[in-house]
Amino acid sequence: MTSAPSSTDSKGTTAAPAHAALMLRRMRNYWIATAMLYVATMGLLAAQVGAGYTPRGPALVLSIVAACGTLAFYALIHFSARLKIAPDMLAALQSLFAIGCTIAGYAIAGPLRSSLLSMLVVAIAFCTFAMHPRRALLLAGAALAGMAGIMWYLQAIDPLGHPPAVEAMSFGYLAAALLATTLLASEMTKLRRRMKASKQELLAALDTIRTLATVDELTSLANRRHMNELLGAEERRSAPATSCVALLDLDLFKQVNDQYGHAVGDAVLRGFAGAAHGALREHDTLARWGGEEFLLLLPDATPQAARQVLERIVTRVHALQIDGMTPERRISFSAGLAERRDGEPFTEAISRADKALYRAKAAGRDRIEVA
Ligand code: GH3
Ligand code: MG
Ligand code: MG
Repeated sequence: MTSAPSSTDSKGTTAAPAHAALMLRRMRNYWIATAMLYVATMGLLAAQVGAGYTPRGPALVLSIVAACGTLAFYALIHFSARLKIAPDMLAALQSLFAIGCTIAGYAIAGPLRSSLLSMLVVAIAFCTFAMHPRRALLLAGAALAGMAGIMWYLQAIDPLGHPPAVEAMSFGYLAAALLATTLLASEMTKLRRRMKASKQELLAALDTIRTLATVDELTSLANRRHMNELLGAEERRSAPATSCVALLDLDLFKQVNDQYGHAVGDAVLRGFAGAAHGALREHDTLARWGGEEFLLLLPDATPQAARQVLERIVTRVHALQIDGMTPERRISFSAGLAERRDGEPFTEAISRADKALYRAKAAGRDRIEVA
């Protein structure tokens, strides 16, 4: 049954898998970019070996380790949900691996080693985009510590090939570049978060607007505007089965207002809406058509089936007890029921239902008249 449109159910059940699929796609894209970078770096390393700058054995070992690691990360990304590895953790592992490869590359690259440091900047930029800024800062610290260690080791074992002053200055450049990259990228991350938050706010506002546009504030039933949309949609639907409409009007409602006050009158309208709504079939819609008048749309219902629904509503409404009203004052309504003829606009069926309602009122109220 429909009192007002509800989009949250469908959203709630589909949002989580959609988000997971998006995350997986993003991780795969990151992986492709990283793999391309590895291939390019390994190509350059091979060229260095060919030019005699870098020893063949260590370069080959590093290339094999990098290739195996890259493939292993592809598998980890693919099975991350099953293995319950959080995307943040995977990104951290990938970054640590890239940092390790770069440090090893620096140790064996010979005269071109400083050029490899740019790869470290790339690895840290990747971290800051893929994870929390604090964790990225930690990884940048780890990268710097690793580089400090390897530079110190190289100048200690080979001070001629790795002059201490050159290593120290290279480290200074690296530290400055890493710090700047981390700060810049974390600013970008904050910006992205703010944009994401604004998007959520906009979506929530849109949801509120949709509710305001379709739900009657007092009764929480569909409002007239929304009912007109549903009638239009129903007209466009080429359904072989017949549909019915019914106009329901509370009896002597003015007296309720006069005798008990407007607030009690409002409580009666809310009570009526709740009771009637509970008696509907799954695809029926009850809307507040105006004041104390309601329109019931019963798709794919014969007049007999529609009458049964109305009788269920009658039973429930008669049983209503409203705070502030004397128990013997029973709430009732009159209804006019009409079947929609083949292909005719709903306005015509509603007009017949209105005439039937008039007859129900004239015949003494608290009854259902069929057009
Ligand atoms: P009948 O049985 O012939 O329908 O008589 P009635 O008194 O129900 O009909 P009438 O049209 O004379 O009065 C309808 C009343 O409904 C008048 C109006 O003040 C009241 N009404 C309309 N909207 C609201 C509302 O939102 N809250 C309250 N409390 N009263 C409302
Ligand atoms: Mg009335
Ligand atoms: Mg009325």
